[in-house]
Amino acid sequence: MKTELLYLSDAYLQTFTAEVVDVRPDAIALDRTAFYPTGGGQPHDAGTLAGLGVTDVRKDPEGELVWHTVAAGGALPNIGATVEGVIDWTRRHALMRTHTALHVLCGVIWNEWRVPVTGGNMEPLSARMDFEFDPLPADFGATVEGLVNAELAADRPIAVEFLPRDTAVHDEDLIRTKVSMIPETVAEIRVVDIVGLDKQADGGTHVRSTAEVGRIKVIKTESKGKGNKRIRLEIVDA
Ligand SMILES: [Zn+2]
Repeated sequence: MKTELLYLSDAYLQTFTAEVVDVRPDAIALDRTAFYPTGGGQPHDAGTLAGLGVTDVRKDPEGELVWHTVAAGGALPNIGATVEGVIDWTRRHALMRTHTALHVLCGVIWNEWRVPVTGGNMEPLSARMDFEFDPLPADFGATVEGLVNAELAADRPIAVEFLPRDTAVHDEDLIRTKVSMIPETVAEIRVVDIVGLDKQADGGTHVRSTAEVGRIKVIKTESKGKGNKRIRLEIVDA
């Protein structure tokens, strides 16, 4: 049994019904879910499931079932029950804007300086990302903020595609993100394409066009050592 991940093909799905396939004292597993589980740098969704507050969402270690941890105090549904899930849309949409902004940042930095990303972390409307700069270019914060905001304002469409593994590993635009490192057992690779700017194998949720992100503000740039420079940013309304 594997939970069907509804957000992979529809990031805008806010309510859904599903069948309970397993229950723990504080958590529920479903046959399908629109709740995003923590992973790929994106934090989990919140919301309600069967009227109970969802406080955490994780895939089991085998990556098969998605477990929704719920707030204590309510009666959990039985296995086989049909339940309704409601996503906390304010949080999710903020995470979608943030995740897309980070892909735009990666695309801009690659196109301008040919420098790869080394790590990162995101929260709703704020994030940090590390890049292999040594040293940072002069006036980097203001320069990158201007370049990213120009791409966001350009209102580039964002397409989500499912490519056969063979096609994806030979796509020149995907080589930078090391698609060949994805296990050979994965037959189909999900690709998030910010058309004309950045293409990555990615399991996260994204907005439909870059204008929906708004703008970024670079809060700080700092050195985290040789070949590792950190950018902290916030996402604000355009
Ligand atoms: Zn991503």
